[in-house]
Amino acid sequence: MDHEAVSATGSDGYLSPLVAHVQSTLSEARVRGDSVGLLLVHAAAIDRIDALHGFNAGDKMSNKIAGVLRSGALRKNDALATLSRDEFACILWPVSSEGVAMLAAQRVMTLLGATPVELGGISELADIAIGIAMFPDHAQQAESLLQRAKHALHTARGHRDRIWIYEIQAVASAVDPSQYAARLRRALDQNSLTLHYMPQASLHTGRLTGAEALLRWTDDVLGIVPPCATVQAAEAAGLIDRLTQWVVTSAVQQCVEFRNMDPEFSVSVNVSPSNLREPDLPLYIDRALRTWDVNASNLTVEITESAMMNDPNAATQRLQELKSHGVRLSIDDFGTGYSSMYYLAQLPLDELKIDLSFVRSMLEVPINAKIVRSLIELAQNLELTVVAEGVDNEAIMAALTHLGCDYMQGYYLGQAAPAAELMARLRKQSQSN
Ligand code: MG
Ligand code: MG
Repeated sequence: MDHEAVSATGSDGYLSPLVAHVQSTLSEARVRGDSVGLLLVHAAAIDRIDALHGFNAGDKMSNKIAGVLRSGALRKNDALATLSRDEFACILWPVSSEGVAMLAAQRVMTLLGATPVELGGISELADIAIGIAMFPDHAQQAESLLQRAKHALHTARGHRDRIWIYEIQAVASAVDPSQYAARLRRALDQNSLTLHYMPQASLHTGRLTGAEALLRWTDDVLGIVPPCATVQAAEAAGLIDRLTQWVVTSAVQQCVEFRNMDPEFSVSVNVSPSNLREPDLPLYIDRALRTWDVNASNLTVEITESAMMNDPNAATQRLQELKSHGVRLSIDDFGTGYSSMYYLAQLPLDELKIDLSFVRSMLEVPINAKIVRSLIELAQNLELTVVAEGVDNEAIMAALTHLGCDYMQGYYLGQAAPAAELMARLRKQSQSN
């Protein structure tokens, strides 16, 4: 299975200083039996800053990022190497598991992801993505460890969280993109896709009240395909309606079990912009609800703000049809698009979900705290329930409770997990009544 180079040097004998440095760390770690985590941090904004504000500003951004990584994200024994002005390697040694490397990456995201960097008169977001690879799990040699972190970094760019851990299966994913269509069709035929459920809880009562169904596709050849790549492949292959039908039917079927634990439990599904152009969408949602005898009020359909604003007239019509069936409607990732307040007030919405980028950094970035507070007020004025995404810790939860937010979702409550795990938590909750 291993495609690693045995030697750290290239065929011409050249050894990059970074490879040499990583190699010496790995040699020591090998002797001690330690694991090492490699984080590749890329700041896409530097290119743009060079063009907009000049190379001095780009250099400043680069230095500030290195400073934040050194002082805020790395521990005493970790090392930082600057690969280029916009790319940094953090060598975490020792780490007990990839979960620890993930926490470090989340820390970097909190510090740099949504926090604008001050560059003397201007402030800019660094536009960070992070790829992670682990020694010895993902690679035994420095060169292949770096290469695999880079591979993960490319995947991270297309992923919602902008963080990705290398997957062993992903070795094979240097496949032709057209393969995705064939593989996805096969996965749909063989019913080999799954849904994971990200729990939601009430900030008023602390109880689990719902879950967002998230698509998981692990393919024998492609490895783990991130949800956004799955949706892109489905759109390109004309399979998006089939995929959404599958998601809706599976989520509604699973809802029967959740509802037995709590009759009010709500399952949310995500619908893509092209689904909104599909006249059959309300029909197949209705059909799924009838088939499994689930109340429409137990189902929430999430539409992103940007999808809504692509074609507000078509979206409004489709949402009104869905509403007439009694389904709850939610506007997702709110705050990142450019909503017309007029349309927003006209839409038959029930819920507003605040985008995680604001919530995650609200305690460090005053402007984001102000945005979160304004969005909660906006939701209250429009009589929408409000969900905060990206609640990573107790302090954020406390701040949101104080601001009057209704529901939360995020790592503090739990990652997306198989239905059985959520069922176990609901069972425990119902027993503790
Ligand atoms: Mg969503
Ligand atoms: Mg969302």
